[in-house]
Amino acid sequence: MGNVTMDKIVSLCKRRGFIFQSSEIYGGLNGAYDYGPMGVQLKNNIRDMWWKEMTQLHDSIVGLDASILMHPRVWEASGHVSNFTDPMVDCKQCKSRFRADQIDLNAPCPVCGTRGSFTTPRNFNLMFATHIGADVDAASTIYLRPETAQGIYVDFKNVVSSSRVKIPFGIAQVGKSFRNEITTKNFIFRSCEFEQMEMQFFCKPGTDEKWFPYWREQRMKFYVEKLGIVADHLRWHQHGPDELAFYAKDAYDIQFLFPMGWQELEGVHSRTDYDLTQHQKFSGKDQTYLDPETNERYIPYVVETSAGLTRNVLMAMSDAYEEQELEGGDTRTVLHFHPEIAPVTVAVLPLVKKDGLAEFANKLEHELREDFATDYDQSGAIGRRYRRQDEVGTPYCVTVDYDTLQDNTVTLRFRDSMEQERVAIPELANRIKKATKEYKRV
Ligand code: ATP
Repeated sequence: MGNVTMDKIVSLCKRRGFIFQSSEIYGGLNGAYDYGPMGVQLKNNIRDMWWKEMTQLHDSIVGLDASILMHPRVWEASGHVSNFTDPMVDCKQCKSRFRADQIDLNAPCPVCGTRGSFTTPRNFNLMFATHIGADVDAASTIYLRPETAQGIYVDFKNVVSSSRVKIPFGIAQVGKSFRNEITTKNFIFRSCEFEQMEMQFFCKPGTDEKWFPYWREQRMKFYVEKLGIVADHLRWHQHGPDELAFYAKDAYDIQFLFPMGWQELEGVHSRTDYDLTQHQKFSGKDQTYLDPETNERYIPYVVETSAGLTRNVLMAMSDAYEEQELEGGDTRTVLHFHPEIAPVTVAVLPLVKKDGLAEFANKLEHELREDFATDYDQSGAIGRRYRRQDEVGTPYCVTVDYDTLQDNTVTLRFRDSMEQERVAIPELANRIKKATKEYKRV
């Protein structure tokens, strides 16, 4: 990751259709982004991998898709109305705005250099408020959810009574969240509209001592073994007493070495029975669980895994990015995505357009679509076409040449090693699947 900078990532994202600034033709909207043809595929692939990992490969985790708009009392119960604030200061000289906890208030303004120009810090609630119905008054105020987790808590009883889950079990959800962030720098790292992948694991009080380390291990393994992130680019950060929420028993963040330094990627939190107890208090509805075997009744404890999906996209891009010097003075930009998250898995390229090669390659690409996300490219020199695929992280290129027409074989080129092998077309799909299964980042 030595030569990656945020500017390079931003420029590649725009150039190759991963991520665009929202509303760009109107000057852009801060903190909002559009995922282009490559970006949406990358994001969906990461989401699908997480979903499969959590719901299909783990016992007793079920899915949910709760609404973004919720009853305003939810956010009173959760503490967001009173506590979900950041301290904000303005520079009186240049009017720039900062999070007071992220700058040194005794130092000069980092934008205009004026000393002693900051206002006193004031708390700013990060929830976006809007109105439901035709009347715009206090009674109609609702919020865009700032996290997906509360949707899971308020449906806890619905899930228990409508499915056969028994404690311990989890509820997983992926969806949009919104925070009116004071500073939205570092591209998609911190945006106002983003996506989260959260799982709340409900367990008997006391057994959280076992499940908390279990989920920490599972989540780190996911990044290294499934997403193929370089292990040295990930580390744990345990919350100190000043960071820990007052109700939390313990909390760890998985941090990733982003281009701007180590930053949080996912939180794994031991939240006790705080959320369900709050909802019981505010709604007046029983939130206890009756153990069908022991007849014990209790409010379950929760271990939460809370990851940013859009932040995962930035991690995947930064971790994969490399500029390589090749023999002969040539260079290439390559994204070493794990083949299972790459937006395009196989690109089919005819060596030349003429003599029936283009038609053959086109037909082959159509056949491969059944199994893989494919691309077809017949324009320009073959070397340039390989570079184009390297730059969007396509792990396999298949080249159709004159021999193909004779013996029904193609050249399979591997992105990372640039090695090539000759493969018979009937073996091709299996060869690619095998290589994907055995993929190791070098
Ligand atoms: P921070 O302290 O950095 O504002 P947080 O600790 O409040 O973040 P959580 O509420 O724990 O973050 O959110 C869980 C995850 O959601 C984070 O680890 C991150 O990946 C993602 N996330 C949170 N806020 C944003 C945002 N504004 N933009 C993108 N992703 C976010």
